[in-house]
Amino acid sequence: MCGIVGYTGKKQAAPILLEGLSKLEYRGYDSAGVAVRNNKGKHEIVKTNGKLSVLSDKLKKGKALKGTCGIGHTRWATHGMPSEVNAHPHSNDDQTIVAVHNGIIENYVELKEKLTSKGYTFYSETDTEIATKLVDYYYKKWKSPLEAMVSFTLRVRGSYAIAVMFEDYPEEIYIARKDSPLIVGVADEGSFVASDVPAILKYTRNVYYVDNMEIARIEKGKATFYNVDRKVIEKQPVKIDWDADAAEKGGYKYYMLKEIREQPRAVTDTLNSLIKDGKIDLSEAGLSDEKLSSFKRIRIAACGSAYHVGMVAKYVIEDLARIPVDVDVASEFRYRSPVYGENELVVVISQSGETADSLEALRGAKAAGVATLAIVNVLGSAIAREADNVIYTKAGPEISVATTKAYSAQLIVSYALAVQLALINGKIDEDRYAQLIDEMLALPASMEKILSDDEWLKWFASKIANKKDVYFIGRGIDYAICLEGSLKLKEISYIHSDAYAAGELKHGHISLIEEGTLVIGLITQMRLAEKAVSNLSEVKTRGAQIMSVTLEGNYSLQEHSEFTFYVPKTEAYFTTSLAVIPLQLLSYYVCVAKGLDVDMPRNLAKCVSVE
Ligand code: GLU
Repeated sequence: MCGIVGYTGKKQAAPILLEGLSKLEYRGYDSAGVAVRNNKGKHEIVKTNGKLSVLSDKLKKGKALKGTCGIGHTRWATHGMPSEVNAHPHSNDDQTIVAVHNGIIENYVELKEKLTSKGYTFYSETDTEIATKLVDYYYKKWKSPLEAMVSFTLRVRGSYAIAVMFEDYPEEIYIARKDSPLIVGVADEGSFVASDVPAILKYTRNVYYVDNMEIARIEKGKATFYNVDRKVIEKQPVKIDWDADAAEKGGYKYYMLKEIREQPRAVTDTLNSLIKDGKIDLSEAGLSDEKLSSFKRIRIAACGSAYHVGMVAKYVIEDLARIPVDVDVASEFRYRSPVYGENELVVVISQSGETADSLEALRGAKAAGVATLAIVNVLGSAIAREADNVIYTKAGPEISVATTKAYSAQLIVSYALAVQLALINGKIDEDRYAQLIDEMLALPASMEKILSDDEWLKWFASKIANKKDVYFIGRGIDYAICLEGSLKLKEISYIHSDAYAAGELKHGHISLIEEGTLVIGLITQMRLAEKAVSNLSEVKTRGAQIMSVTLEGNYSLQEHSEFTFYVPKTEAYFTTSLAVIPLQLLSYYVCVAKGLDVDMPRNLAKCVSVE
């Protein structure tokens, strides 16, 4: 999982590569490097350990390297520690071939043995160096970059997006991909290769998506695509309608705050794409009412926050539509052997659409002949391409590693699915249907209200920034909200936190409560409120400090809670969309108070395209 950028054109390559990489740093940021071909046709490699800013300084913002063709990489190490020597680009022994790679070459051990027997030696611990030398081996054998890339594609197993420069072909970049994203843009200034759209949005909105097992030759102002039979493939560019500013920080210090504040817009855009003339219409995703009515069971597979959306969806779909729903973390689902019945639907949720475990869960379901639906944010991503049906969330580019707006947009899709299933299965009448849709449409305004009232959260965050342990407790949907609140806090502030179903506390977890332990209680499900309040009271009597999040009008918590945040009332099914916002903001402000890097928390990357 990393970011790749390539450029060949009229301009100096290094500044363009650095700028493109800065838009991809969310994909990995433990080391970075570029290779630029100078006017003598030789490539020069500069790489550094650490974040991209270190590389940028070393390159004097790109001025230190001259040349109009180059490739760059920001790494998230899988094979070999983050270090300068392991950073990409990697080259062959005679420095005539240089490559950057995203993904994992699974048969790298076998390939290394083979190449070693042919006299190759290795300077790094990466699978990428092996990949580069494999390309070198085939190039020396076939004397053709296309043949070398085809042979490479047929020989390696695993996932890769690879960009290669051959000294004999100045001003050209060759690329290939399988299961890791790669796009191409052709503009007046030149041609671009990148892992994701924001890297090239400044230059072009017309993007070619490279498919699995495809190869492309990138020249100035031209891109030619091939399949492994060496046949030219005619491709149409996809027009990207994202606002260029949407991929920038827009005045905020961190993307995360910008993205938290963009949630009403992300939700509105997603609602607009799902609701037509007052009715939910999923036909664009290939889900006619007739088709939807055929599903008798739903299984959701997802990772991280998307899994938490699945948890909310389970509560809402089961209660509203009376269809059984199972939710699994995708990394478990893919290695189980689920017993599928008739008329099942497997739903995979992923912001990037490249999440490796979710992709494999999808493939497993497809191989078993089960209908699949993807809920993804990134157009043309692997999961979107492979699923039978796709609903796109309209969150726009999400850069901060900790998801906020994509999570909120995914929630909306799950509500729409639940409400539509409820109607077509005869569980609700038209009036209730219209009422639920109205409540969904009212969510963005309520979100705005919460966002305009965050001073208290800032204050409370500064008080709790030194906590060692925080527990989130809730019942029903509130438990699902707790899971997300807890993940948000731990991933960016490094405070240990956990979420518990409030009724489970007394079965063990309550022993963790001591004087001053912070317990955050979520109480938006009023039918369970009394029970949840009792659980808060149990931890308070054991010394816990209590914060709670509840609905406006529920003032019964005041005597238990040191700090209560009220969110506007809405339909019980949809409270997650509101109650999660104070938890996101709290995590954000705790992280800022601790002086940590909000957008790039340690050890994490945005798009988890490795197992
Ligand atoms: N497997 C390669 C490495 O460890 C690439 C990892 C990545 O996608 O960043 O260098």
